[in-house]
Amino acid sequence: MAEQPVEGQQADSRDEQIEHIRMAVRQLCTKYGEDYWLEMDRNHGYPSDFVAELTQAGFLGVLIPEQYGGSGLGVLEAAAVMEEVCRSGAHAGVCHAQMYVMGSVLRHGSVEQKSKYLPQIASGELRLQSFGVTEPTTGSDTTSLKTTARRDGDAYVINGQKVWISRIQHSDLMLLLARTTDKDKTTRKTEGLSTFIIDVKAAEGNGLEIRPIESMINHHSCELFFDDLRIPAENLLGEEGKGFRVILDGMNAERILIAAECVGDGRYFIDKASTYASDREVFGRAIGHNQGVQFPIARAYTQVEAASLMVDKAARMFDAGKPCGAEANMAKMLASEASWQAGDVCMQTHGGFAFAKEYHIERKFRETRLYQIAPISTNLILSYLAEHVLEMPRSY
Ligand SMILES: Cc1cc2nc3c(=O)[nH]c(=O)nc-3n(C[C@H](O)[C@H](O)[C@H](O)COP(=O)(O)OP(=O)(O)OC[C@H]3O[C@@H](n4cnc5c(N)ncnc54)[C@H](O)[C@@H]3O)c2cc1C
Repeated sequence: MAEQPVEGQQADSRDEQIEHIRMAVRQLCTKYGEDYWLEMDRNHGYPSDFVAELTQAGFLGVLIPEQYGGSGLGVLEAAAVMEEVCRSGAHAGVCHAQMYVMGSVLRHGSVEQKSKYLPQIASGELRLQSFGVTEPTTGSDTTSLKTTARRDGDAYVINGQKVWISRIQHSDLMLLLARTTDKDKTTRKTEGLSTFIIDVKAAEGNGLEIRPIESMINHHSCELFFDDLRIPAENLLGEEGKGFRVILDGMNAERILIAAECVGDGRYFIDKASTYASDREVFGRAIGHNQGVQFPIARAYTQVEAASLMVDKAARMFDAGKPCGAEANMAKMLASEASWQAGDVCMQTHGGFAFAKEYHIERKFRETRLYQIAPISTNLILSYLAEHVLEMPRSY
């Protein structure tokens, strides 16, 4: 009788496969060194060649099932990809959404939508890099959003405004959350919202205006203005009125992957800080001899490693199909705070040179700061944990 693999052996082979993925991503990233990312940042450029190569190598299609041309792997593998991209000094924010936004199509799309879009997303022919949720007047209060989509024959007509919608100018498709029933006509605040697949190229100039926002990091974020944009009714994703769930279902994967990016950023900062502390000599010896220099680096390292454990736990729960809202949110919060701490320590260790762009630290420092605010701010995570895990009263 053939020997059955025991649980530990399966875990070992998965860990080995993840190690192979890490090595391959590291190898790919060496072609796009830190000067490449500095130039992108300086010129507000979009790294099309990097994104294309990451896609061709199959890394951005890790979560797409094999039947649609992806690798059919889990969030644990996807997290390893994102972590390594960030650890190399790259900015994963240029393409991370290609990994997880498709999850809404996968889970809620019709058979036609899945076979129309997913294979082309896996191959890179179609970029689904953009999701439009945030609005200027409602912010974190997503269920109060005001952009409307009214049914008109075989179309929906969209009016309203979105803000901070990233990568839309480098995306073929966007998922849009809009109101299909007025808020005062719904019984629950999460109802009355619907999700749509927007063909960006067809929409721009025909009811959709896109205005880039000049911002602190090179994240390609834009304001969107909808003025009677007509889209085919068949572009509704999931059930009308249940769109909040369609978007929400993709959020745990998003939180975990962004947490993994923060772990990658954190490890990048720790590597830089510990190397510099060992090399830089002032007062006749390496600054790293001083406990005042080495302790903050060791502390930041501890925080990054602790956050990494929560990322690992959340990813494994997600892949096992277990509810992991609390773990995904805690992973995102811990990792974003740890990467920020590591960035701050890295700045301090480098002294004045930290401010020189050629050292790359200030760019990563700006980039990693985003993740305490987007895609969900730390306070909103704490409110979620207080209410849903610790069963305290709702605060808002
Ligand atoms: C670079 C960048 C890229 C982004 N990309 C996208 C994107 O692609 N798609 C998209 O839809 N959105 C995107 N966003 C938007 C992002 O998700 C929001 O900025 C974020 O959710 C916070 O919303 P807000 O900015 O409106 O802040 P607000 O909701 O105005 O909150 C401001 C502050 O008040 C705090 N706060 C608010 N309410 C409470 C409360 N009840 N209790 C305690 N504290 C509270 C918040 O924690 C926050 O610190 C992006 C943002 C940025 C900066």
